[in-house]
Amino acid sequence: MRAWLRITLWILAAIAVAAGVAYWWLILAGDGEPGQFRLDIAELRAAANEVAGGKPVEVRVEHVASGEMPLAFTRSAAGWEASVFPFQSYQVVRDGRPSIILETAYDEEAAKQSGATFFDREAFGRVLSAMAQAEAIVVTHEHLDHMGGLVTAKDLDTILPRAVLNKEQLTSDVPFAAKLPKEAQDRVKPLEYDGLHALAPGVVLIKARGHTPGSQMVYVQRADGKEYLFLGDVSWKMANIDLVRERPRLATYVIGEDRVAVLAQMAAIKALKDANPALHIMPGHDMAVLDAALKEGWLIKGFK
Ligand SMILES: [Zn+2]
Repeated sequence: MRAWLRITLWILAAIAVAAGVAYWWLILAGDGEPGQFRLDIAELRAAANEVAGGKPVEVRVEHVASGEMPLAFTRSAAGWEASVFPFQSYQVVRDGRPSIILETAYDEEAAKQSGATFFDREAFGRVLSAMAQAEAIVVTHEHLDHMGGLVTAKDLDTILPRAVLNKEQLTSDVPFAAKLPKEAQDRVKPLEYDGLHALAPGVVLIKARGHTPGSQMVYVQRADGKEYLFLGDVSWKMANIDLVRERPRLATYVIGEDRVAVLAQMAAIKALKDANPALHIMPGHDMAVLDAALKEGWLIKGFK
């Protein structure tokens, strides 16, 4: 064999091996044992009862947009089939009190730019009006698809005083972060807490730094005792919780996520789920869970 051909073949073989190792590491490889994250149902319930007053009576949802992503990007060692990503906003409804809005979705332009193939203008319009009347607006984290509806809202003077944002949500500049104009940023006094924060009767924020610096989960206990846990994007899909499996490294590198922290949160959510089968758990973007929630009635379609 001629020398140049032998060298070429060796180079090609080395490239193939390197590509194989990279594919395994970035797409297939899982993690070691998850660490610890504190998520205790008794503590959540105690915090839900810390603020006196009427608890939520129902939780409503607006399905604002949808897109698709390969399943392989959502979970290490998953297949390459397409997975639907719904983008939604929730309205925690109380008796005789203004609602609390959880997640603000994002406007049509941002949705289309991020590859959304479906956008419901009327649904997003209802999110904007609900924000203008809410007692509080909270987001699970600073990514555009959760906080974008807030930062691009036209009537910031009405909406901004209702926003309850933590410091990282206001200031972090991770990829895909929604940014308030600087002068608007200065008008918001950030919420500072560690662990749990009792936001309102039956509504508790759970600090969960990892997916982003400003990430938190939200626990809701209704007046009739029904309980919810909104994961934000600690997990996009319920399967990650059931399998305790993180996104592939390629995804966590792109997002800039702390995968060790997120995996510990996934394990804690799985333990909480197993011990409390009646708890309604809502991942960030899981169409099957959203459909089931609407069918079972624990989420009601359309804001009031
Ligand atoms: Zn998201």
